[in-house]
Amino acid sequence: MSREQLDRATSLPELGSDDTGCAVLHVDMDAFFAAVELRDRPELIGRPVIIGRSNGRGVVVSATYEARAAGVHSAMPMGRAMRSCPNAVIIEPSRGKYTEASAQVMTILNEVSAKVDAVSIDEAFLDVSGALRTFGSPAVIAAHIRARMAAELRLPCSVGVAAVTMVAKIASTLAKPDGMLVVPVADTVAFLHSLPVGRLWGVGQKSVRALDSIGVTTVAELASIPQARLAHTIGKSAAARLQALAAGQELRPIAGPTAEKSISSERTFDVDLDPHDPVDAGKLETAVRAECETVAARLRQAHLTASTVTVKVRFEDFRTLDRSHTLAAPVDSSHLVAAAAKPLLTQALARGQHVRLVGVRCSGLAPADSTGHQLTFDDAAEAKSTAEVVMDEVVARFGPQAVRRASLIKGNQENS
Ligand SMILES: [Mg+2]
Repeated sequence: MSREQLDRATSLPELGSDDTGCAVLHVDMDAFFAAVELRDRPELIGRPVIIGRSNGRGVVVSATYEARAAGVHSAMPMGRAMRSCPNAVIIEPSRGKYTEASAQVMTILNEVSAKVDAVSIDEAFLDVSGALRTFGSPAVIAAHIRARMAAELRLPCSVGVAAVTMVAKIASTLAKPDGMLVVPVADTVAFLHSLPVGRLWGVGQKSVRALDSIGVTTVAELASIPQARLAHTIGKSAAARLQALAAGQELRPIAGPTAEKSISSERTFDVDLDPHDPVDAGKLETAVRAECETVAARLRQAHLTASTVTVKVRFEDFRTLDRSHTLAAPVDSSHLVAAAAKPLLTQALARGQHVRLVGVRCSGLAPADSTGHQLTFDDAAEAKSTAEVVMDEVVARFGPQAVRRASLIKGNQENS
C-alpha cells in the first residue's frame, strides 16, 4: 500500500486533548534536504523543488510539498520525477550541508531532553518524562521544539506526541507538513484501530497481502482475530508482535544516552597513507585528532563522559587493529581524548603498513553529571574544556565550518 493509499484509508477518530502520560515525542523534519536548500535560496519557497541529480540519473532524495503535489516522492527515479513535474527546479544534493543541519537539529533536541534517540538524519524520538518540570506538558514541549526549529534553524518539522513510540511516529506523519498531533493515552487504542494494518511497524506489502487474504485490512480487525488464526498465516512471533502493537504496547523503548555503549567516528583516506612518510604521518595524526574532536563533541552533546579511548587503524590489506587505554578519570573534552589517542596511534602504526582508515571510539560511558568529571584536572585543562563548550555552542548555532582549531584545517535519502 502506498503512502497516498494509506492516507486515504485513514479516517481518524475524534481525539481528546489530554496529553498526560504522552511522554514520547517523534520529531520529524519536513522535506528536510529540500528545506535546508531553501534556506539558501528563499526565492524558491512555494515552488516545486526536487533534490536529485539533474542528469536524470538516480532517485529523488527529497522534494518540496509543491513537487509532491505533482506526484513526486522520495526514492522515485529522477527521470520519472522530472517528467511528472517538468517545471520543478532541480538541486544537486550536497550531503555535507544536510549533516551539518542535522547536527543543529539534534543539538536543539538534546537541549530539551536527555533521552533523545536519533533514528535517522532528520528524525528522533524523545522521552520527555524528565523535562516536564522544566518545559511543561508534552504538547507544550512539542510546540517549544517546533518554535525553536523555525526561529533558530528556519526549518519546519512535525511532531507526534503519544504514550508509545510507534503511535508518536504515526502521529507525526499524519501531522505533516509543519504540524503536531497529540494522541491521548485514553484514545490510543481507538486511534490504532482506525488505521489500515500497513501503518503498523513491520507490516510491509507482503504482509498486507497475506493479512488481506484472511480478511484483515484494518488494525481493528487484526486486534480481534484469534492469535492462533493469525499465527497460521504470518507465523507465531509476528502474530504476537502485531497484536501487541495493535493493543498500544511499547515494543521499542527509547534508548537513553546511558544505553549507548560507545561513541565512535572514523574516516577512510582517499589514498592509503604511509606512516614512514613525514607528510603522511602528519596527516594521520591530524585525522585522529579530528576524530577525537568529533567524538568528544558528541559526548558533550549527549551529556556523557567516557573512561576508555580506543584508536582503530585499518591497513592496506584490510586488517584492522584496535588499541585501547582506560583513563584514571572519565573525560568528555577533545584534548583529553586526543592526549589518550596519540600514543595509541603510535602503537598501532608500529606495524609499518600503509593505512586506509583511522577511527576513534570512546566507551565506558556514564552521564556527565554523575561522575563529577574533570574536577581533578588542572586549570589549563579546565580552561580548554570551557573553550570547547563555547565551541560546541558556536558549532550548534553556525555549523561546524564556523569553528576549527588552527591545527585542524581539513579538507540516501531522507525520511519525509
Ligand atoms: Mg523527515
